[in-house]
Amino acid sequence: MLENFKRVRFVLVNTSQPGNIGGAARAIKNMGFADLVLVQPEIFPSDRARWRAAGAKDVLQNTRVVDTYAEAIADCELVIGTSARERRIPWPLVNPRVCGEKVAAEASDTSKHQVALVFGREDAGLTNDELQRCHLHVHIPTNPDYSSLNLCAAVQVLAYEVRMAMLESSGELKDFEQEWDAPLAKSEDLENFLVHLEETMESTGFLNPKTPRQTMTRMRRMFGRIRPDQSEVAILRGLLSSVKPKSK
Ligand code: SAH
Repeated sequence: MLENFKRVRFVLVNTSQPGNIGGAARAIKNMGFADLVLVQPEIFPSDRARWRAAGAKDVLQNTRVVDTYAEAIADCELVIGTSARERRIPWPLVNPRVCGEKVAAEASDTSKHQVALVFGREDAGLTNDELQRCHLHVHIPTNPDYSSLNLCAAVQVLAYEVRMAMLESSGELKDFEQEWDAPLAKSEDLENFLVHLEETMESTGFLNPKTPRQTMTRMRRMFGRIRPDQSEVAILRGLLSSVKPKSK
């Protein structure tokens, strides 16, 4: 595992549902992380957690259980607390995207800081005292009328944002998949195809050369927008060649 991913810890405080512990283990392993720390979970270890962890049982096996929240974050330079709602005392608050960027920058090989993302209880979240021990808060902008996510879902969203930011900073994130199984059609291929198309349209009587209107302009615009590849143009030309002219 890459060193920067190792510097990101997921801390779950007083989790009551063992299934959520397993689900969180799976979510973080899916995103390339492995450091899960539990502060006084109600039940751990458990079959339910193992079942929900699926292929992330190794993360569960290495999960540390600690007695206090202070212990879980003691060695961290940056602690970010999650919150499902607005709190009484405002605190520096970031959105998940900015959270991902900040965590990626802190955990990078340049900064080498240990970071903790802290998640609260299923029923009551984090206490004010716990939140005030965080440098930053992050809120996932959910529906204000139903803002509280399932614990594992919140872990998944933030782990994903951190992963995206880390991939982005290491240049591993492609905007889109550029590999294609056939080369793109060249301007000349498309031109020949459009001539063939126009001739065929005229030969079937579909297009009257005396009143062509904007038909060919629209066809040109459409194929320009699609940017077909060479095999697609070859299929279309084959199709045009198979079209019989209208008998006079
Ligand atoms: N009733 C609690 C909800 C806790 S949800 C409350 O109002 O605080 C359990 C945990 O999931 C939260 O402590 C937090 O860690 C995470 N979580 C849920 N929804 C979230 C959201 N919209 N943004 C950030 N974290 C969220």
